[in-house]
Order: sequence, then C-alpha cells, then structure tokens
Amino acid sequence: MSDGTVLVINSGSSSIKFQLVHPDTSESVAHGLIERIGETDGHIVYNHRTGVEDRSLPIADHRAGLKMVLAIVAEVGRPLSEAGIIAVGHRVVHGGDVFYSPTLIDDGVVKAIADLSNLAPLHNPANVIGIEVAREELPDVPHVAVFDTAFFHTLPAAASTYAIDREVAKANQIRRYGFHGTSHEYVAGRVADFLGKDTAELNQIVLHLGNGASASAIKGGKAIDTTMGLTPLEGLVMGTRSGDIDPGIILHLNRNSGMKVDEIDDLLNRRSGLKGLSGVNDFRALLALIEGGDEYAKLAYDVYVHMLRKYIGAFIVQLGGVDVITFTGGVGENNVDVRRDSLAGLSRLGIDVDQVVNEAKSRDERRISSAESAVAVLVVPTNEELAIARAAKALVAAL
Ligand code: ADP
Repeated sequence: MSDGTVLVINSGSSSIKFQLVHPDTSESVAHGLIERIGETDGHIVYNHRTGVEDRSLPIADHRAGLKMVLAIVAEVGRPLSEAGIIAVGHRVVHGGDVFYSPTLIDDGVVKAIADLSNLAPLHNPANVIGIEVAREELPDVPHVAVFDTAFFHTLPAAASTYAIDREVAKANQIRRYGFHGTSHEYVAGRVADFLGKDTAELNQIVLHLGNGASASAIKGGKAIDTTMGLTPLEGLVMGTRSGDIDPGIILHLNRNSGMKVDEIDDLLNRRSGLKGLSGVNDFRALLALIEGGDEYAKLAYDVYVHMLRKYIGAFIVQLGGVDVITFTGGVGENNVDVRRDSLAGLSRLGIDVDQVVNEAKSRDERRISSAESAVAVLVVPTNEELAIARAAKALVAAL
C-alpha cells in the first residue's frame, strides 16, 4: 500500500519525472517518466510494484501526459487520488530572491514562480505547468514547492556577487543563485551520517556530476560557494553545457559571426560541453569513443577533468582545508576514471584514493580514500526525490 507517501514531480521542458516515495522508509513505491512531450513519438514508462507499463504514443502537452499517467496508475492499481498520498512535492528550479525554503503552494506562489521565469526561461515555465496540472488532478492534498536554489541562499556576499556594475546587477536580479541545492544538501547530510559526525563539524566539497554538473563548498552544513551561478550554465563542463567560458566569447560570436542571442543560448546550453567537443553528451558513450582511440573524445574528457580539478583546488582554499570530498550524480557515482583522475597526485594535500576500492562495483555509500588519506573521499548516491518528499512531509506536518 502507498499510504503516507509523497508524490514527487519534476516537470521539465519536454519530460516529466514522477515518483511515489515513502519519506520515512525511503521506499520508492512507484516511479515513471513521460518523455518527448509535444512530439509524435511520445513515451510513458511507469514502474510499479507488480510490473512496468511502457507505452509509446503521441503526447500533445504536459496536461495530456499527466492525465495519461493518472489513467495508467488507476488501471493497474488504485487511482492516485485514493492512494493515501499526504503531499505532492514539486521540484522547482529557480526560487530567485523570493523562495529560500520549501513552500506550500497556493495561487500566489504559482504566480511568483511564473514571475521568476525571466531568470530560468528553460525551467520555471515547465515547473509551473506541472504544478498547475497536478493541483487540478489532486486538489485535496497539499502541494509543496522545493527549490533547487534554496540551499545556496546562505552564500556569503563575496561568493554570490558578480563584479559588474551594481545598479545593473540589481535591476536585473543578477547574482549567484546556485542550483542542484537539494542534492548538495541531501548528500552533505548523508556524508555526516556516514562519518558519524555532525554537519557542523565538517568542511565538505560535494561534486554532483550528472548530465548537469556542479560542485559546492559546504562549511558547517552551510554552502559557502558553488559553481553554478545566475543560471545552471556556469561552472563545470557538462553533458551539453559549456560551463565557464570567457564572457567575451559571447560578444565575439555576436560581433564576428552575427549569432543572435537565441543561437548563442542554444550553442552554450545544448551544443557545448562534452557534446560540443566530442559529439556525444553521455559519459558512457564518451568512454566508448575514447577506448576506440577517438582524439576529440579524449580531449573532451581532459577538459572535463581539468575544470573539475580547478574547482576542487579553489574550494579547498575557500574552505581553509577540507575534511571530505564526495562524488555523486550518474558520473560521480559510477565513473571510476573521473574519480581517479580528478584527485590524482594530491597526496601532498592529504588526498589519496585507493584505486582498488575505487574500482570495486557498488551502489552503496562508500569510502574510496586509502587508510593514509587525511581527507575522506566518499561516493554517496544522491536521491533528490527522497529529499523533496521529506521536505514536503515536514512542511505538511507543521501545518
Ligand atoms: P541527470 O543530471 O540527468 O539527473 P544523471 O545524474 O542520471 O543525470 O547522470 C547521467 C550521466 O551519468 C550520463 O552522462 C551517464 O552516461 C552517466 N552514467 C550513468 N551510469 C554510468 C556508468 N555506469 N558509467 C559511467 N557513466 C555513467
């Protein structure tokens, strides 16, 4: 039975991920994905206790997709409205300067999230549609928004401020907001539990390496720096995003080749990073190309690791020394090479990865540093859905 569960919805521009999670037991009761919304080859996958429904069909829009899922859920079990759900938790990308903590959704909150779309034009509008449809379909349960930016609200001004004209920055809400906050916060908490310490005692670096990638420096449980900025484009090299580049490149592209802002947006967000350098954005495909001797793929890997090392070094200094470095996200949790190469040759800094342990296959939280390593190096699987479910439950319980 799914009584006491939270439905977590992550509504993106052309896909919706959803999961029914038990916040206390961490059990994922059911989960699914609606893909290629708006295209003729739409796809719905719904994994539940007794099987998997996998259907390919055109999905006109987010509303149609969610309605189809609800119909499938009712077909194979109880309708969701009767499934004992205590809350719906929505992942919202940008909370701007407005939302710093999980927030009970009402019409005003939906409008405020929509109003922040200028800061996250690729993400917030899709989040709003997900919220609107879910509120229509499940009107009797509380809906809670959990913001990707919230954890980085504590960044000191020196870390959140860009050195540009302050009036221009203010008028345009320009500052470092940071993203993947739910994951960084969740992982930092797991790390403390794993080490048997309180987060207050630890200087941590968390490396969230998925399709998107970001690093954070966390002192005493509070973020003091992070790689993503006004948008999720800044920082580490990612699957399709460039990460840090000289801002002058944008001006040069415009002046030199006449590229317009939307074309540059597409270039930097969708055609750069690993994909731009090697033709593939998926790390496993990149590794396969490297094995086949592809030089572009090798360079893409080297650029990726170079940027990662640059930020690890920067964050060790910002923290005044680090106690623990943790890898998470699809690449961080699974890729032996990135973990080895990003921390190679750092024994003088007290960082030493045990390569035998690093290469051992596991899905568990684990330590991969050697007994001699003064700095603990961990692998901790992230679980944003569980973190959102727990945040939603905590808020609802306090109502
Ligand atoms: P998202 O940012 O979309 O949540 P994930 O955290 O799932 O992404 O990470 C996706 C990335 O993880 C992809 O580049 C994928 O190739 C990589 N990845 C997943 N499994 C493995 C694996 N076993 N070995 C290497 N890379 C992996």
